[in-house]
This record gives sequence, C-alpha cells and structure tokens, in this order.
Amino acid sequence: MIKNLLYVLNLKRKETYKAILWELVHAIFLAAPIGFLLLILQDLFLPAPHPAKLWTYVGLMIGLLVLQLFVAVRSVIASNGMTYAVSTDLRIRLGNQLQRLSMGTFKQRDPGDLAAVLLQDVANFELIFGHTVGNITAALFSMLVLSGFLFITDWRLAIVLLAALPLVWLMVRLAAHLLTKQGKKHVAARNATSARFLEYVSGIRTIKSFGMTGKRFSSLEKALNDFRRASIRTEAIPGPFVLLATVVLEVCFLLMLWLGIHFFAQGTLAIPVLIAFLLMGYRLYDPIKIMLVDFALLRYMNISLGRVLELLQTPRQGAGKNLQPSHYDICFHDVSFGYHPERKVLDKVSFQIPEHRMTALVGPSGSGKTTITSLIARFWDVDEGRIEIGGIAIQDMKPTTVYSLISEVFQEVYLFDDTIYNNIKYGKPEATEAEIIAAAERACVLDFAWEMPGGLHSAVGENGNKLSGGQKQRISIARALLKDAPIVLLDEATASLDPENEIYIQQAIQELVKDKTVIVIAHKLATVRKADQLLVLQEGQIVERGSHGELMALGGLYRRLYDIQQQAGGWKLGKKALPEP
Ligand code: ADP
Ligand code: MG
Repeated sequence: MIKNLLYVLNLKRKETYKAILWELVHAIFLAAPIGFLLLILQDLFLPAPHPAKLWTYVGLMIGLLVLQLFVAVRSVIASNGMTYAVSTDLRIRLGNQLQRLSMGTFKQRDPGDLAAVLLQDVANFELIFGHTVGNITAALFSMLVLSGFLFITDWRLAIVLLAALPLVWLMVRLAAHLLTKQGKKHVAARNATSARFLEYVSGIRTIKSFGMTGKRFSSLEKALNDFRRASIRTEAIPGPFVLLATVVLEVCFLLMLWLGIHFFAQGTLAIPVLIAFLLMGYRLYDPIKIMLVDFALLRYMNISLGRVLELLQTPRQGAGKNLQPSHYDICFHDVSFGYHPERKVLDKVSFQIPEHRMTALVGPSGSGKTTITSLIARFWDVDEGRIEIGGIAIQDMKPTTVYSLISEVFQEVYLFDDTIYNNIKYGKPEATEAEIIAAAERACVLDFAWEMPGGLHSAVGENGNKLSGGQKQRISIARALLKDAPIVLLDEATASLDPENEIYIQQAIQELVKDKTVIVIAHKLATVRKADQLLVLQEGQIVERGSHGELMALGGLYRRLYDIQQQAGGWKLGKKALPEP
C-alpha cells in the first residue's frame, strides 16, 4: 500500500510537499497549548503561584487557538489541492494510456471491468484519498509532537503509554490483511455486477427473442446479491479489531495511571506531572482512534488504486517511426505468440505472403488462423520474432500506419448506429459521395438499399440490428472497398449465410480483392481452392504449404480435411461439415 501511495504522491510533488508541510504546522499548533497547560499546572502547584504569569500563559493559549484556526483552514485547502491535483493527473494519464494500449488489451478485458476502473475505481480513490490522507498525516504528526512532550516530561510514563502502539499496529496489520482479502472479493463482486448489467442491457433483444428473460435476469440478480453480501462482510471486518485496539489503549492508560500513583508514593513523581499525563494520555490516543477507522478505508482505497495503477502500467504499443512501406508482401519470421504466458498459440512460425496474391489459411478450429490475422493488424504484439510488411517490421511503424494498410472483413460485423451511407464512409472519411455510391454498388449494397424507404440514408439501428447478417456483411465490404487498403484480411466472411446472400457476397469480395494482397480464412475448403498459396495450420505450426494441387498430391492433413468435406457434401449443400475449421 505504501508503495502505491508513494507512487501517486510522487505524481504531484509540489502539491504534496505543501500539504504535508501544512499538516505538520497544524500538528504543532494542536500540541502547543498542551505545553502551556503543563507550565500552568506546574505553576499552580507552586507554594506561591504568580497570577500574572498564569494569565500570560492563558492569553498566549488563546492567541495560539486563533492562529490554529487559520492554520487548520490552510491545511485543509492544501490537502484538497493535493487531492485534486493527483486525481486529475491520474485521469489524464489514464486517458493517454487508453489511446496507446494495443487493441488486444481491449479485446482481452471485460468491458464492464474496464469501465469500472475508469469510473468507479478513480472516484473511489479520489473520495477516500481526499478524506483520509490529510487526517492520517495530521494524526501521525500530532502523535509525534505529543509523545515528544510526554517523553521530556516523564519518560517512564511515556514509555508505558507508547507501549500500546506496537500492539495496536499488530492488530491493524491483521485487520488490513483480512480487509484486503475481503476487499478484493468486494471489488470483484462489484465488477461482476457491472459486467452482468452491461450484458443484460446489451443482450436484451436476444434475451427477449429467446424467452430467456427470467434466466438472464437471475444471473444479474445473483451478481447483485453477491455484491450485497460482500459489501456487508467488508463493512463488518474492521469493527471487532477497532474494538480490540481500543481495549488495548484503555489497558495501557490504566497501567500508566497505576504506575504513576506508584511513582508518586515512591516520591519520584510530582502531582502536576501525573495530572498532565492523565489529561494528555487521552489526547495521545485520539489520533490513533481516528487512524484506526481511516486505515480500514485506506486499505479499501488501495485495492481501487492498485487496479488503476495496473491499467496505467500495462505496456503500451511503441510510438513507431514514420515509415511507409512501398510494397505489401507480408513476412513472418519465427513468430511466437500466446494470449497467456503459459500457452503458446503460435510457436516459431515463419512464412511469406506474396504481394497481389491470395493466401488461404486453413486448419482445424483453434489452430491459430484468426490469431495470425490479428497479429498482422497489430491487435496484439508478438512475443518473439517479427512480422514485416514490405520489408519493414510492423513494430517500427506507427500503429495508425499499420491500420491504414489493412482492410478487414470479419464474420462479426460492427456497424455504428448511423445511416448505411455514413457506415460506408467510415472506411474513408474524406470520400466523395460518388465514391461512396460506387463502393455501395460494387459491394451489392445498392441492391437492398434501394428497397428501403431512406435508400442509402436509412438508419441501420444499434449495431445494425435493422439489417440481416448478409446485408451487414455487404456494408462492411463496401466500407473496405472504399478504404482501398493494399492488404485485405477475410476471416470466415461467408460462413453461416443463406445461398442468395452468399452469391452477392462472393461477388462483392471478388471486387474487394482485385490486385490486393489477400489473406483469407474460409470454412469451405472448396472456396479457397483457387488461392495462390495455402498454409495449413495445426497446433500453432504450419504443417503443410503449397497450392491446392500440390497439397492434394501430398496426401496429408489438407487432403484429409478436404476429403471429409467432400464426402459430407458440406460445400455443395452450403453447410458446415466440420465443427469449425
Ligand atoms: P482459429 O481461428 O484457427 O479457430 P484462433 O486463432 O481463434 O483459432 O485461436 C487459437 C487459440 O487461441 C485457441 O486455442 C483459442 O482458444 C485461443 N484464443 C483465441 N483468442 C483468444 C483470446 N482473445 N484470449 C485467449 N485465448 C484466445
Ligand atoms: Mg477463427
């Protein structure tokens, strides 16, 4: 926790030092009247007290009190200033960080979880930090100053009072340990709630159409219940420990009293000193009691802060140089990659994808075909080896350059809640109307758009929910056509389509791949027979490569897969013969 706190405090050093300085001055002012109290007591017990002297002390104490008010206000302002500076800085850093993270990071994380970090965790941190850090610093300093006073006055009694501290510290550690464990469950339960909620809301249509309302809702309800239980447990943990710590403090105080009376009877302690200890002992313990409560809050804050820092420290994609390839062949040199460190999906894979040719990736489901296309588009960075486009490593290019070189058509199409026209336009924001209409025509979008009331300017609905899968697919092809990038990635674009749509889409794709470097992944091996090169993947390795004819002659995995599909008549009937090649 200390490490995390130091990290954020270091973000804004000037404000932090200022706040700490004011808290220190504040603590001194809080403790100073007690020094006068000691002097007054000592004077009162003199055989002949000087009233004038006493009144001077009282006057000075009143003066200090007024000054103390001023200092208190300044220290609150300073610590608010620090909180504001630090949390603003954190938010700006998070914003910058989000822009620089690889797409993979976003794909990998639960969107509900990411939103929770950005919204709830930062707010959580801000709230608790602002409330507690000032308090705790002030408490620490005033304890320090006060124990200094006590030590000078009578070190024996001071030691007895201070002996409570290590014990209380031990209990705080124990409570903190339990609280961190429970707090993690609490945060996890909270995030599960937001994720279930997002899922419930975004899937409402599917949920309704399949009549799953009750079932889906019950998973949201369960998440909410878990969250409630976790919240109650989190609240309950510190209670007993705070109580126990208070008992320890009381016991030490009584011990000090007992010893004080004992020393007095021995004649080694004066009455005013004993009275001073009785008055100040309680003052010494006050900040500890505040800290006990705040410390629990701080631990909780630390969990949120940890998650914020984790996101901030996720490696960014390098900025890259301003390199622009002049040709567009793609080359994998000993590329290894895994989504998780324990499991490699690709293991030292090398291959060449020639320019202006079609290369097909085939292989069983899970063999890493989609992964290869994601790596080319730099959604993820490779673990080992390098990927080059036109002889330049993609890590050396700006991520935006890489994106500009590639058009993608995936089975799952993402459309913005906008018109067909604007959805196509996203492919090339500066395109003219004529260019957009031409792209719509070539991708067979006009064939269905002209039947709609608004034509190309009809709205597609949220994520295209007013259109069929095939229609959405054609819009995404039009978008890619308009972008006219030199490299085209097609991932299972024609899977699960009706025969009519499939014809249209085949036609649109023929338009799209003209003169391009094309990488295609297809369910039906018959559709990629014409590819110039086939790469056969199995368990993260390229096991066969060559043209359809060569691979059939080889009689290996490709031939087996092809024969199975032929026998099942899969490609003739337009059905999937394999679970998911
Ligand atoms: P294919 O496209 O050939 O079916 P993929 O490239 O999608 O195969 O997946 C290869 C392996 O990587 C599979 O074992 C899959 O479970 C795993 N995988 C794919 N995407 C992710 C991801 N985002 N996170 C973790 N593992 C993944
Ligand atoms: Mg795939």
